[in-house]
Amino acid sequence: MTDRSNFFDTKIEFLKGVGPKRAEIINKELNIFTYGDLIQNYPFRHEDRSTFQRVADLNENMAAAQLKGRIRSVNIVGEGPKKRCAVEFTDGTAICEFVFFNGAEWYAKSLREGGEYIVYGKPQPFGGKFSFNHPDVETLTPENAEGGYWQPVYNLTEKLRKRFIDSRFLGKAMRTVLEQAYPHFRETLPAELTQKYRLLSKADAMWHIHLPESEASLHQAKRRLKFEELFYNQLRLLKNKLIHKTEYPGQVFSKLDLVRTFYKPENLPFDLTNAQKRVIGEIYDDLKGGKQMNRLLQGDVGSGKTIVAFIAMLMAIDGGAQTCLMAPTEILADQHYRGLKPFADALGVTITVLTGSTSKKARKTLFPALADGSTQIVVGTHALLEDNVQFKNLGLCIIDEQHRFGVAQRAKMWNKNTIFHPHILVMTATPIPRTLAMTLYGDLDLSIIDELPAGRKPIKTVHRYDKNRLAVFGFMDEEIKKGRQIYMVYPLIEESEKVDMKNLVDGYESISRAFPQHHVSILHGRMLGYEKDDEMQRFVRGETQIMVATTVIEVGVNVPNASVMVIESAERFGLSQLHQLRGRVGRGAEQSYCILMSKYELSKDTRLRLDTMVRTNNGFEIADVDLQLRGPGDLAGTQQSGIADLVIADLAKDGAILKVARTEAEAILEEDFELALPKNAPIRSHVDSLRKEETNWSRIS
Ligand code: ADP
Ligand code: MG
Repeated sequence: MTDRSNFFDTKIEFLKGVGPKRAEIINKELNIFTYGDLIQNYPFRHEDRSTFQRVADLNENMAAAQLKGRIRSVNIVGEGPKKRCAVEFTDGTAICEFVFFNGAEWYAKSLREGGEYIVYGKPQPFGGKFSFNHPDVETLTPENAEGGYWQPVYNLTEKLRKRFIDSRFLGKAMRTVLEQAYPHFRETLPAELTQKYRLLSKADAMWHIHLPESEASLHQAKRRLKFEELFYNQLRLLKNKLIHKTEYPGQVFSKLDLVRTFYKPENLPFDLTNAQKRVIGEIYDDLKGGKQMNRLLQGDVGSGKTIVAFIAMLMAIDGGAQTCLMAPTEILADQHYRGLKPFADALGVTITVLTGSTSKKARKTLFPALADGSTQIVVGTHALLEDNVQFKNLGLCIIDEQHRFGVAQRAKMWNKNTIFHPHILVMTATPIPRTLAMTLYGDLDLSIIDELPAGRKPIKTVHRYDKNRLAVFGFMDEEIKKGRQIYMVYPLIEESEKVDMKNLVDGYESISRAFPQHHVSILHGRMLGYEKDDEMQRFVRGETQIMVATTVIEVGVNVPNASVMVIESAERFGLSQLHQLRGRVGRGAEQSYCILMSKYELSKDTRLRLDTMVRTNNGFEIADVDLQLRGPGDLAGTQQSGIADLVIADLAKDGAILKVARTEAEAILEEDFELALPKNAPIRSHVDSLRKEETNWSRIS
């Protein structure tokens, strides 16, 4: 063990070919200090230098080509910014040309007419020949004459390049260090797994991730390292989850009297879907199980998560505890409160609401009622997190639309009951892809509502250009005449808030002018709480037919009679946001529509976003496209941990590996939670070294 850590801790200045001067620059520019650092600095791509192409066979579809031949002539041509070094080159099959704009003089001096070279670059047809712009040129030597290798390409800086520390240099250094390192690598995966999935050994994978011999060997190296990374990621999450389960007892809520009463047809306005019933069963199993619940409830927009949440609350209340429901906006909190109050009243359950706009006076009675247990349900915003919100016995905390809250908030609610931590149910507004859920919420149990209530007509979505506005207005008019209501949403993003605000107000005015016979509401984030509330209520009561709004209506607002959603400048919204907005309609029995308005010129990604919206209503499918487009980091938000630790695995692409890694981690923990079995020794020692690394880091940062 000691000789291993010694080896990987060796300073790179001791590496042959590096030395103290270069080491210093590499330290500074790449943050690489030791052999270990160097080896873990993976290349971001490779150049295929395995074979040579013939000049006569070049074609414009080649991403790159490697040539071996002789320089016929070297000339400086052109003036000013067009001044360049033009080189004629042949391998005997045909002639091609290289041009160098930057450092033209230097190239003209260094490249020899008649000299033999190996050249790598992208061929482009130009004037009947193929031309290479700034190709990579090296002198032909016995070492490179046969090709047969893949050149790793590393991240570099200008400073490094100036000192000739480039990918070729690092590739050579890597070969030197890996030759020495090879016997020092310790296998981190048990033989059972490497055999079952035919994974390369750790040492071979580290070799081939830098210096593969072929596309296939690179692929195998990546597969092995991705598996390892995801396996340890999942192992940690699952271990936390199990520790939670064994260490934290939960209050036992097994009585179902209230649920049974609520379930009677006179109270429950509809039949639950099978998916809702199944999820309620999963929650009930947790609540009566004696362990503290940590569960994520995923379900598409409109799948009916609220009623599931309410039934879970009834279970806790029946067990003598209090519950809270935390929503990300005031509008949503108010709406949840209004929606649930009649149900609660009918059952004799006490319910209240707490948001930023709750008055001091109201708080004076509200806080004591929570503290003495006389209020059983509190619905609210993050105002619930405040320290003066104290419960007599908080038994269940439900967090709606989690992606707006951080993990820290979850922990805060968790500590509102220190005798028995409350059961926690997190609900997401928009589905997130399974792979992302597994890493972001891998320590939570997962419930999915994968079915919409019966009788919902799929929302019809169309994409229209701004120039078709009149036709869209005509359509809106017809729908209003049928008694429907309409949302019109404008983008509002912080950077251009002023412009957006103006667009919103202009939009409001032009809508009011276009529909003089109808009433129009306006809703945006700058309005005061009670103003928003008034406008929302006017719309809910049907006094206004059109609601012009920003994305404040994005989450959760529920007005079943609103059946048309027009989204202005749809190109400026993200995919999940569009889906979320669309989810505001399609809640009643009528056919609903979503109209995406955009300008005519659209980027490829934007077009894909809008086309996806038109093609499908399925939130999980949309989430997958979103993941492909935006990448996991963006989707998850910056403050989310867990994703940042992934160096080589890509959640957008490696879902299949992730699934297997999780299953295996689960099986291993189930059989050997302490990782004490001899066959799991590699895991145990790797976990220990990861932990050591982590504590070192936390001491630094
Ligand atoms: P979300 O999952 O987006 O939070 P909600 O809980 O707001 O969805 O439910 C959307 C709408 O569907 C609400 O009007 C709700 O009353 C209704 N709903 C929920 N479950 C059912 C069901 N099983 N049958 C019919 N309507 C339902
Ligand atoms: Mg909801």
